[in-house]
Amino acid sequence: MKAVAAFHASREVRVVRHPEPRLSHPTSVLVTTLEVGVCGTDGELCAFHFGYAPAGEDYLILGHEALGVVEAVGEGVQGLAPGDLVIPSVRRPCPEARCPACRSGAQDYCVTGRYTERGIFGAHGFLSERFAENERYLYRIPVELRASGVLVEPLTIAEKGLRQYVSIQRRLPWLRDADDREILRGRRALVLGAGPVGLLAAMLLRLRQCEVTVYSREEEGSNRGALVREIGATYISARDVPVDALAERIGGIELVYEAAGAPALTLAVVERMGPNGVFILTGATGGGGRLEVGADALLNRMVGGNLVLAGTVNASHDDFTAAVEDLAAFDAAWPQALRRMITGRYPMEAFAERALNRTGIKEIIDFAPVS
Ligand code: BGC
Repeated sequence: MKAVAAFHASREVRVVRHPEPRLSHPTSVLVTTLEVGVCGTDGELCAFHFGYAPAGEDYLILGHEALGVVEAVGEGVQGLAPGDLVIPSVRRPCPEARCPACRSGAQDYCVTGRYTERGIFGAHGFLSERFAENERYLYRIPVELRASGVLVEPLTIAEKGLRQYVSIQRRLPWLRDADDREILRGRRALVLGAGPVGLLAAMLLRLRQCEVTVYSREEEGSNRGALVREIGATYISARDVPVDALAERIGGIELVYEAAGAPALTLAVVERMGPNGVFILTGATGGGGRLEVGADALLNRMVGGNLVLAGTVNASHDDFTAAVEDLAAFDAAWPQALRRMITGRYPMEAFAERALNRTGIKEIIDFAPVS
């Protein structure tokens, strides 16, 4: 079958012929790929900033945001059947007995660093005509989500990010016994970056009844600005409002969800956060750049404001089940906005070029056009 693979030794990304996947275990599921999303991580992988092939192999099949249809199931599979639409998760546990995270099914918190990620680190991804996966790493989605289901994986990043926020805010005595929704309701949230992860986070924050502002570099009249307004959030373009004026415009920043991968912006916003604020950091940066910062002011603000800066990567089982449910809620609340998130469909041959020159919101590799 055809697949898109990165060859690290020669630094090439190209279509290869790869052996057909098989049902190698009673709980294996054979999936036909329908769509694979292209994301910032894929840009880094195609630029060879990181990523590596499975042990002993010459190449890594790319692709980690997939939507597929079940083709066949092993005799031990209980919850899936041929014809079901499924989304695979990305990270697989490390083999070490001493890793409390991986041994408890929470590999997104792996402490050894020996985890693998399909399509990223040491395990083949989903940019192939078919793939096999253990039932426990597949999430069924309803047929109504056929057109937007490929957004589940990027939405899991926001699900985990907001879970970090609510668990951190239970430190406040008056929120100790509050449920997640109560903790979020009415919060003034600032999302940095209007890429897919930022926009999906903005939708999730709106769904949880936060007051949401998205701050990004695109103009106010851009498609992204329009999409933000359509979900009942405010869009502020960095071209019009400098970061110094942002806190005043918003009226106190309680929660920041960062999806811009812009270190200078991150530090500038931390310094302007309101009391007891939490800054959730999701954007990895590729540059190795250096910044001169006013360290005293920054750290004093963190101390004086009880601020928390929390990084988050990947997502858990619960984040996947929550993302499937919330994506259905987005589809009910803002069907048009959700459709407009997907800005281009390409054949697999175009993957590297699209990953290196991302211009739309979410571009996807389409294996079977939506009928
Ligand atoms: C994926 C995560 C993954 C991370 C780091 C992101 O693009 O969505 O699942 O853990 O990259 O490799």
